[in-house]
Amino acid sequence: MRTKPPTANRTSKNVALELGFRRCAQDLRMLLLTTPLGWLLMGWICWDRVPLQQLAWWLGGFAISWMVALLLLTLLLRLPSPQRRRHGWMLFGAAALDGMAWASMVPLLLRDSGSDALLPWLIVVLCGVAALTAPIYVSYVRAHSAYLGGLFGVLLGHTLWRFPDLPHLGITLGLILGLVLLTWHMRRIGHSAEEAMRLQLKNTAKNERLAGLLRVARRDAETDALTGLANRRQLDSTLSSRWQAGGLNDRRDRPLSVLMLDLDHFKRVNDTHGHDVGDQILKAFAVRTSKQLRKPDLFARYGGEEFTVLLPGTDAPKAMLIAERVRAAIAGMPLIAEPPVPITVSIGVAQRQPNESTESLLARADAALYAAKQGGRNRVTLAE
Ligand code: GH3
Ligand code: MG
Ligand code: MG
Repeated sequence: MRTKPPTANRTSKNVALELGFRRCAQDLRMLLLTTPLGWLLMGWICWDRVPLQQLAWWLGGFAISWMVALLLLTLLLRLPSPQRRRHGWMLFGAAALDGMAWASMVPLLLRDSGSDALLPWLIVVLCGVAALTAPIYVSYVRAHSAYLGGLFGVLLGHTLWRFPDLPHLGITLGLILGLVLLTWHMRRIGHSAEEAMRLQLKNTAKNERLAGLLRVARRDAETDALTGLANRRQLDSTLSSRWQAGGLNDRRDRPLSVLMLDLDHFKRVNDTHGHDVGDQILKAFAVRTSKQLRKPDLFARYGGEEFTVLLPGTDAPKAMLIAERVRAAIAGMPLIAEPPVPITVSIGVAQRQPNESTESLLARADAALYAAKQGGRNRVTLAE
């Protein structure tokens, strides 16, 4: 069994990581913009329990670190994407600052209040903030460790310093255990998200490639390889979808004329100058004739050295003029310079009659072409 080259996998993993990194930075910035709501909540909780000055210290410090974090994220997101992950410290710094700012309410608000009733509130708020924050790190779970490090680093430092007695230490150790579990789960979720993103990117790239191949295959299936004109398949499908009774886009209410063109004595050209020269002449014929046609006209290679032109919205007199213009353009000057073989074309013209099938229309144009050949070639004949 063939395995994929490791470099392709690494590249798609890198792209997924880069995307996750950017999404995480964007989400964190969005979340930080809602932080003032948390301040209001804490103001309400602390109103009668904490001296205003303490609350102001905490809020002031938080506001400064909040602005620094926002600034870091904004600068980071302005960097061109290839450079962004090389400045990962900006995301980690913003995450750690956010965690530290929230955690600092424990040392700053509990300081002298002596209000044990506040501790459960603070724990509830901290857990709530941690729960709200966690999902934004799913897209880049490495930054979550920075956030938790900031949050619990402050809590642990404070507890060890101010409350070395067992109950508080127990609470902190409990929180640390929670932190370890949370980190472990977040890593698993983060890896799954990273893998999902990688697969999504891979599928998108594959779909784009397939869509491109399909476009090329469809174009090839409808194009003549030598001249680049529409081929018989495209001619038939255009006739049946647009001009046949009951077709997808039935346009039988509009006039339609058809030219059938056939190069004169082309076998002789091949026999005298070779098949390659014949091919060059066919290509040059396609180019020169196309210049005489309008955009909505469909110019197709019917087969060999026979061609068909559909002229929508054109009646027989106008179609005769166009055919004559084409005939004169071909006869006027050799199609290729070397060898300068004189080439002429015979053309049969038919306008569709009311309720006539496209098969009958083509057959009448063909009959007119036959009449042009019989009449001496290098001429245009209108169908009966
Ligand atoms: P007429 O004036 O009666 O149409 O004579 P003709 O020689 O053009 O007609 P005929 O049907 O006898 O010969 C057609 C020639 O066109 C024969 C064939 O070799 C040549 N031909 C068809 N397709 C190609 C092609 O793709 N490349 C080249 N070089 N020649 C082709
Ligand atoms: Mg011919
Ligand atoms: Mg022929």
